[in-house]
Amino acid sequence: MIINFWGNLKGLLRPPFRGEKRVEYELSRKASVKDIVESFGVPHTEVGRLTIAGRDISFSSPGSHDDRVDVYPLCPPVDVLTPTLLRPEPLAAITFAVDVNVGKLASLLRMAGFDTFYRNYISDPELVMVAVQEGRIVLSRDTDLLKRKELVYGYLVREIYPEKQLAEVVHLFGLKDQLQPLSRCMRCNGLLQPVDKEQVLDQLEPLTRKYYHVFHQCSECKHIYWPGSHLDRMLKVLDTL
Ligand SMILES: [Zn+2]
Repeated sequence: MIINFWGNLKGLLRPPFRGEKRVEYELSRKASVKDIVESFGVPHTEVGRLTIAGRDISFSSPGSHDDRVDVYPLCPPVDVLTPTLLRPEPLAAITFAVDVNVGKLASLLRMAGFDTFYRNYISDPELVMVAVQEGRIVLSRDTDLLKRKELVYGYLVREIYPEKQLAEVVHLFGLKDQLQPLSRCMRCNGLLQPVDKEQVLDQLEPLTRKYYHVFHQCSECKHIYWPGSHLDRMLKVLDTL
């Protein structure tokens, strides 16, 4: 069986295949194309399209000896709200579950207004369970986590720096028009509501009290936000998108 890995998938292949485009697979047992692809190191979540002899196939298609399989990467903008052959059950909304290895990305996604689940201490199976139950896209830098079979929607974050990771995710899922800064709490994912200055006056530092007049408060943890350094940073980050 011949498998062609296209685009950035080549870089995900395990040694000694890394960087190769065309690999050969000796079919010794019954296996789905998905299992065969993953045996080379590529998590199924990274696959945007699978074909045999140019014909689209699903993950569960059985591999056969003479097949020539083409494996294509996710192609932006990835639409998770529409069923595809690879992922017949679409998500109801674009929401995320973020792994600890990209923790700062979680805050930035919330800053941009996206519903983002994040816990400091959570096992891989628990994170995947939350994602599956709540219909969230898992973002991680851990290929083993993304290979978990219960997981349908996930993405292997390539960038190292959180701001670049945000840009990467926004670009991949085509979210540029859906940014809603100052709508969600960076700390707890709660929704922010406008709040009168008088109501939060006693919680403000003297300089904040003096120079700022517009405030938002988290409906969950009650943290207060105002357009100071926080908003400046947010706008700077979103500007780079
Ligand atoms: Zn909060």
